[in-house]
Amino acid sequence: MVATMRRAHPSNDPVDLEAALRPAWVDVDLEALEHNLGAIRQRLGDLSGAKCMAVVKADAYGHGAVGVSRVLEAAGVDWLGVALLEEGAEIRRAGVQLPILVLGTARPAKISLYRRYRLTPTVSSLTELALWCEWTAGCRGARQAIHLKVDTGMGRLGVQLAEVPAALEMIRRHPHLQLAGLLSHFAEADDLESPRNALQEQRFAGVVELLTEAERRGAVLHMANSAAALHRPGSRYDLVRLGLAIYGLDPVEAGGEPLFPVMSVRARIVQLREVPAGTPVSYGGRTVVPRRSHIAVVPVGYADGYAWRLTGKAEALVRGVRVPIAGSVTMDMTLLDVTDTGAELGDEVVLLGRQGAEEITAVELAHHAGTISWEILCHLGLRLPRRYVRAGTVEELVSRFSREDA
Ligand SMILES: *Cc1c(COP(=O)(O)O)cnc(C)c1O
Repeated sequence: MVATMRRAHPSNDPVDLEAALRPAWVDVDLEALEHNLGAIRQRLGDLSGAKCMAVVKADAYGHGAVGVSRVLEAAGVDWLGVALLEEGAEIRRAGVQLPILVLGTARPAKISLYRRYRLTPTVSSLTELALWCEWTAGCRGARQAIHLKVDTGMGRLGVQLAEVPAALEMIRRHPHLQLAGLLSHFAEADDLESPRNALQEQRFAGVVELLTEAERRGAVLHMANSAAALHRPGSRYDLVRLGLAIYGLDPVEAGGEPLFPVMSVRARIVQLREVPAGTPVSYGGRTVVPRRSHIAVVPVGYADGYAWRLTGKAEALVRGVRVPIAGSVTMDMTLLDVTDTGAELGDEVVLLGRQGAEEITAVELAHHAGTISWEILCHLGLRLPRRYVRAGTVEELVSRFSREDA
């Protein structure tokens, strides 16, 4: 592979490992990750003290939660956000010290695990709150910190507006719970024109009014995701929750300090054949090459998140030029029509990312697959090995193979 190898992690040596893996991988550009955090901070500008939470749920949107969390901790992010208890536990076990908020529904039955891994739960309904009251009643030591989520218009999780006074009363009366945060979530912050955004902000402001002075000082207030953080200054409060933007995708293209995609997906040509005009390729035989063609096989398929629905639509980069997919994307492999490119066996192909002057973005793939870029990133991170790269050097390779296996 082009990158030089550093033997910084002898127990997980990329040199030995790469030889054992199929030649297909995700590159995670650590400099882009750090750049994006800085660029976002710069764009927020007069942030007046709002802190940054990096949302690292779903294995950091496919980039690897542990690797990404470590880098962002070193880069000075203030909080991490995950969807699940077990996601938080994995990051904590890896030695990350930052406060971690579990954004999904809290399971009081697992209170001992929240404590063991020092995770903060989000409480999203009166029923859940009652359970937390019950479960913490007998607890000794420090009060259990919770963040209370209010539904201001997303219609998913959160205490209803009318229930907020009752929720606050329950927390006030309970000696073992501490209101450490109050949050809400936008439904369409990436649509700058939507009147719902202002409505949600007004509602949240109304909820904040219900807090006493002391509660307001003791609680972290937050409601902004990437799009709102960047485009709705009134929604920033004490903390912004950055997902997509950290990974280098602008939820709303509106200029400013650029963000750089952190993920790219690369593979090598493992088979190359010349076929006569009229040859059917891949499953179903729906695709028949119209001329003498060079068909390349790359070992990435829909089981790697390269969606079957990209069939007949997406392009890849070979030798700096765009080439079309030939026939259906299969579970583990995809065929490319590389006729007239001069491509050879072993050439590096880019399915997502940059090669020369060309770039294939997650937005482009999402468009072809009829989905959103968030889903493209999460899925591509599912099975492919991941290389953490800085300045052309692979710092770490994470795969299902360890050095011992190789
Ligand atoms: C996923 C998530 C985010 C991050 O959203 P982006 O649009 O990726 O920035 C923020 N807050 C909550 C509650 C989330 O679930």
